Amino acid sequence: MKQGKCPKCGSENVFTPDDLPLKSGPFGSNSIPISLTSMAALDNYVCIDCGFVESYVSDEYFLKKIPKKWTRVIDKDS
Ligand SMILES: [Zn+2]
Repeated sequence: MKQGKCPKCGSENVFTPDDLPLKSGPFGSNSIPISLTSMAALDNYVCIDCGFVESYVSDEYFLKKIPKKWTRVIDKDS
């Protein structure tokens, strides 16, 4: 999606806002809770053909904090 192609429908009409004020949204609606006291804003990519949305945490601070707070997902099939 970051490379401009929708993984769901194959469209190349993928958009992301360049400079969005209040990126974390009203009441933190466009952010993800990392711990009791911290929220990370999300970068969104939207396919305008099928409406699929993909979101990323881009802040390095939170990407380093997550393994200390969250549980790693293990693939049970492999
Ligand atoms: Zn699509």
